[in-house]
Amino acid sequence: MTDKTDQSLPEPAPETAAAVRRLVLGWYDEEHRPLPWRTQPGEYATVVSEFMLQQTQVATVLPYYEAFMKEFPSFRRLAEASEQDVLRAWSGLGYYRRARLLKRTAEIVTRQWRGRLPRDPADLAELPGFGRYTVGAVGSIALGLALPLVDGNVRRVVGRLFALDEDLLKGAGLRRLWAICAGLVDPARPGDFNQGLMELGATVCLPREPLCLICPLYEHCQARALGFPENYPAPPPRPRLKTVREVAVALFRKDRLLVVQRGAGKAFAGLWELPRLDTREIEADQLGPEKVLFDLLRIHATVVAPVGTADSTFTNHRIRTELFRAEDGEGQAVRRQRHVAHKWIAPGRLADLPASRAQRRLFALLCKKTDDHG
Ligand code: SF4
Repeated sequence: MTDKTDQSLPEPAPETAAAVRRLVLGWYDEEHRPLPWRTQPGEYATVVSEFMLQQTQVATVLPYYEAFMKEFPSFRRLAEASEQDVLRAWSGLGYYRRARLLKRTAEIVTRQWRGRLPRDPADLAELPGFGRYTVGAVGSIALGLALPLVDGNVRRVVGRLFALDEDLLKGAGLRRLWAICAGLVDPARPGDFNQGLMELGATVCLPREPLCLICPLYEHCQARALGFPENYPAPPPRPRLKTVREVAVALFRKDRLLVVQRGAGKAFAGLWELPRLDTREIEADQLGPEKVLFDLLRIHATVVAPVGTADSTFTNHRIRTELFRAEDGEGQAVRRQRHVAHKWIAPGRLADLPASRAQRRLFALLCKKTDDHG
């Protein structure tokens, strides 16, 4: 779909586009990293890797990808798996909504498309979790469709190549960027071209210190010619992180520890955690371990000792969590106020639970403290 603004967008000149395609593809053939979704490609491999790579670096994804593909080797196997097993395999990778959307996509592909991806970009766009980027990535890489894509790396490379000095994250700047990428994409090898642009951004056209001297686009790059290529594209305004104080409680009953499960529709839905509250939910001067236990579980317990603190970030919040240990010597009934399930487990079983990275830090803190005390 175009609008008035789009009609005035310059596309790259045909000779520029041809040179960029040739240089990017030549470089990609020589230099690309032999990542497992490239050495053993396929529709399913592309979809899994693209979901995992959203907001996450390749080095972080690699071990998760290998284990995930072993456990769920096809759309069908993923569709048939339980959500808890999928979340457990995703545990620690963050942005858990991706795991649920991936599973729903596998269910639709299995049921509605007989285990193969639909070929029409409009049908791809109907799959859960398939935004414009993912349609471009999966369409071009797995299906050979001449579709463009824009991610952070492509934004940087193309923004510098054409010295785009505007906000490329939204509005006219973003439309301009997509139009340029659509004009650049190689019709014969769209997947390799798109991966080449992303790979250049990840390994050569680095945010702070672009390695222009070894870049295949050196001769054509307008930002390089102007000097200070790192100033392009214009950086987006940074949101300020808000600080949040959180209190979490490790409640023990004899040698068993209480963990609770988040309900649907909340951040971290389906994951397990220690009971916790923070200063977005409760006045700072009222926040303490006793309050956490009473408000969430209706339990009165003896707080034994602080265990330590752990820091994490979530969206635009910096969260400092204070962890306390408490004992429930009386075996009171747990009356959950917000969670969908709870259980008492041996601390050594914490590693088996699907849990966020922030919670894993707390688990580690707790296990270390428990070990230190013999
Ligand atoms: S020449 Fe430099 S700034 Fe331009 S695309 Fe290559 S690495 Fe990036």
